[in-house]
Amino acid sequence: MTEKLYHFIGGERVDGTSSRFGDVFNPATGEVESQVPLANANDVDQAVQSGMAAFQVWSKMSAPRRSQVMFNFRELLIGSMDELAAIVGKEHGKTIADAKGSIQRGVDVTEFACGIPHLFKGEFSSNVGGGIDTFSQREPIGVVGGITPFNFPVMVPLWMGVMAVACGNSYINKPSERDPSAPLFLGELWKKAGLPDGVWNVVNGDKEAVDALLQHPDVPAISFVGSTVVGEYIYHEGTKQNKRVQVFGGAKNHMIIMPDADMDQAVDALMGSAYGSAGQRCMAISVAVPVGEGTADKLIEKLTPRVQSLRYGPWNDPEADMGPVITGQAKERIEGYIEQGVKDGASLVVDGRGASLQGYEGGHFCGGSLFDNATTDMSIYQDEIFGPVLTTVRANDFSQAVKMVNDHEFGNGVAIFTRDGDAAREFANQVDIGMIGINVPIPVPLAFHNFGGSKRSKFGDTQMHGPESVRFFTKMKTISARWPSGIREGAVFSMPTAGS
Ligand code: NAD
Repeated sequence: MTEKLYHFIGGERVDGTSSRFGDVFNPATGEVESQVPLANANDVDQAVQSGMAAFQVWSKMSAPRRSQVMFNFRELLIGSMDELAAIVGKEHGKTIADAKGSIQRGVDVTEFACGIPHLFKGEFSSNVGGGIDTFSQREPIGVVGGITPFNFPVMVPLWMGVMAVACGNSYINKPSERDPSAPLFLGELWKKAGLPDGVWNVVNGDKEAVDALLQHPDVPAISFVGSTVVGEYIYHEGTKQNKRVQVFGGAKNHMIIMPDADMDQAVDALMGSAYGSAGQRCMAISVAVPVGEGTADKLIEKLTPRVQSLRYGPWNDPEADMGPVITGQAKERIEGYIEQGVKDGASLVVDGRGASLQGYEGGHFCGGSLFDNATTDMSIYQDEIFGPVLTTVRANDFSQAVKMVNDHEFGNGVAIFTRDGDAAREFANQVDIGMIGINVPIPVPLAFHNFGGSKRSKFGDTQMHGPESVRFFTKMKTISARWPSGIREGAVFSMPTAGS
């Protein structure tokens, strides 16, 4: 009998009222480990009602009191690192070191949220005219929804959920149905941390649950991280319901390697950023753009043996560079792209298809693949493959490389490797990309900075974590106050001005 999972609503494990379930696999074995309930609109409504009741208490707590809960949660999160990494490894497949790194990113956001009293400070102007003082204050907005992808089952729910909760909101996470156990576990940690029941809820499910959140009149804001096609739908449907929506979508991140780059550093950087987590990161580098034929030849010569010697294995193999990909369909899709790349005429320098591991024959493993001489009209260049496949497109010069980056539909991240400060500065100014690395391959900003892409990698105005997340999860009030002592001016019918 496979284990049956649940929802986490009002601080309790709840079965829900839907009869639909989804299979949760261990990607290293390909076996079904558990079944997750797929919520219906009633289940979503139960979570919203629970969130609304909790909001009455939590939103009225002072920011320093909320901060204490964040401090408690941080301790519990750090103390549960091994257990959480194992949960992530078993359902997602990423290696233990990679899982821990991603959990640490969640710890970072929690540390940022511990400073919520400071982040909540408003603005004040004394005597703006006629003895009036004007000040602003931030207030939470209610029960907010967070729809999250499979590839970071701890980090992404915490990116949005911690900030939503720290700001005084209640939060409903709708995790990916592929790896739902980590957010459920986080619910237990929040309870131990002293968060009132109903502030952190997890409703498992698929499109039906997402649509119920989008349609619910008592959910004023939705934060989404996932693919662009789904994100665009959520942005349009959510804003149609007058909700505040932020969407962080797909990516195709380029790394430009200039002729003066330190080639060994560039190759190390490409290996980690293209093949870490089996390429299943929104900030993975999936396109290498060496500038000049000489640079390209040197790059391919150094990269090839490194890609050939990549080691894949299950999450708990300490020697593995990467784990399996999430599902059998994902493996098929990735291998389909490789086949198409070959048909389109790109040179397949390393072929990672047909990977298999003794003792894990049912696992969804892909070896590392490397293409050279691809062109921008090929699907291996245009689409997000989301697997361990690096596509090399050679550029003649700097301008061609910049044009390539700007012409691509996605704009999440980009990196340039060079020793020329002038070229790097020009590059950062010219590219329409949200996060730029200069000799930094995965330029994911730390929690106290804002995260977000450009073009079709992001819809909505505000960024993830950093000060912008406080703006997303609060509304602003501006108050003008006067305490007149016995002075009467009589009725004034003209528009008041600062001089009055
Ligand atoms: P996905 O879009 O398939 O799923 C994301 C969420 O949307 C899940 O909770 C899923 O249940 C839900 N969903 C799926 N189909 C839906 C539908 N038709 N209607 C409503 N909801 C639906 O994404 P994924 O495969 O889980 O994650 C990988 C994608 O996420 C990649 O494109 C990756 O680039 C992106 N991603 C982006 C960022 C970022 O910050 N920009 C971070 C991580 C992942």
